[in-house]
Formats: sequence, C-alpha cells, structure tokens
Amino acid sequence: MEFRFCSLSSGSSGNSLYIETDRMKVLVDGGLSGKRIEKLLSSIGACPKELSCILVTHEHIDHVRGVGVLSRRYDIPIYANEDTWMGMQNIIGEIREKNIKIIKTGEYFQLGDMDILPFSIFHDAADPVGYCINYKNIKASIITDTGWVNDNMKDIIKGSSLYFIEANHDVKMLKEGRYPWHLKKRILSTRGHLSNYDSGRVLSEILTGNGEIVLLAHLSEENNRPSLAYETVKECIEKQGISVNKELNLSLAHRNRSTTVYTL
Ligand SMILES: [Zn+2]
Ligand SMILES: [Zn+2]
Repeated sequence: MEFRFCSLSSGSSGNSLYIETDRMKVLVDGGLSGKRIEKLLSSIGACPKELSCILVTHEHIDHVRGVGVLSRRYDIPIYANEDTWMGMQNIIGEIREKNIKIIKTGEYFQLGDMDILPFSIFHDAADPVGYCINYKNIKASIITDTGWVNDNMKDIIKGSSLYFIEANHDVKMLKEGRYPWHLKKRILSTRGHLSNYDSGRVLSEILTGNGEIVLLAHLSEENNRPSLAYETVKECIEKQGISVNKELNLSLAHRNRSTTVYTL
C-alpha cells in the first residue's frame, strides 16, 4: 500500500527517476547509459529486470540515452506520446513492436494500480510532457524541462503529496555566465527551463504546508548552485507564511546519484 519515489539522477548529464507501488516498478526517463541506470537502481535495492515499464517525458538525449538499451535488454515496454516516439526513434534504436506503447497528451491512462496524466509543458521538444501520477489517495507530480508553468499546469499539479519540479538556473548567473548568447536565450525562453525564482513562485502559489515533499530538480551545473536554488525557493515559499522543513520537506535531486527513497 506504499508509494516509493526516488530520483536516480537529475540534470543535463542525465535524468531518471524510479517509482514503485504494490504492483508496479516504473522508470520515468532513462537519460544515462543503460549500465549507469542499472547501477543506480541496484544502489537503492531495485532490479532493472523487474521494471514494469519506462515512461518518457520528451526525446532529449538527457532523458532517453539508456531507454532503448534497457528495453531491449530486459524486454521493457516504453510509454511515450506519438510525437516523442517520432523524435526519439533514431536515438533509442529498434524497439520490439509489443514494447511500443503510445499515450496521448492530456488523457489519463491506467498503468497497473496507477492513474497517470501526461500533460503539456513548454519546452523545445516535439511534444514534451510532465506526469501527474495518482495512486490510491496519493498524487505525485513530475514537472521538469519547462520554460514556464501556466495556470492550467498549476491546476493539474495542485494538491500533490510530492512535487518533483525543476529549478534549473539562477537568472543572474546564467546571464553573466559563459554560455553563448543563443544558448542563454534558449534557456531563458518560455520553451526553455524554469529558473529558481520561477520555480519558487509556482510552488508558493500551490503549496499548503501540509507535509508535502518538494524535490528541486534538473539543476544546471554551470548556472546554478544547490544552496542558491534551495534558498531562493525557500524564500518564495516562506513569503506565503509556510515554514519550510516544519510544514513541508524541501530538498534537492542530485546529479549522477540517487536521492533517498521517499515513501508515501
Ligand atoms: Zn532535460
Ligand atoms: Zn529537455
């Protein structure tokens, strides 16, 4: 009757997270090598052989690098919408027909004992999505790689027990940093990535302080610092009169190593 959630790795070097319920063992994205994902899974006592399926948010390499390898090696079904399938086909390689599962953006689908809603986000990919996962009375929302979060998205993710949300960059660090201008422009655009401040603003509008778990994700190595992301978001939330780490649990998802396994 439990819901387990663990970020295996988060950031532009590779994204992958693991969810476990009574009946399902699910990987959301697999943006590292197959070997690396296997190692990270076994570091938390999970077994790649037992994976029920892989959900994909979008076709960027930092989200799909190991998806094809794992699917072929362990005969794992992959779920993605049609445009994402088109976009990632050449990257992930040949997938067995029976393991190609096509979902529709904006429509709930059932995955074992979970009800899942893939919803549109704003990012420069074919049809990128966030996932809202419902399991019994638990709701968890995954929302990274989005240039902004509109009211519709806030409505969808509101009321979650766990938020896995992007805090990609500090705007000042990005603007003053050494990235070329076209890349800065891409990241700052409404189809780029969410800044610490924007992430904090979104959270401050939807959190209630009832013990939610908030995991800040996809932090840029170049244009952010974990402490800066944490403090910026904390300040936004506390402005709303919610005491972080008394009324909710705010922490960070790491690059290339897993978080603790959150049990809900
Ligand atoms: Zn990404
Ligand atoms: Zn991306």
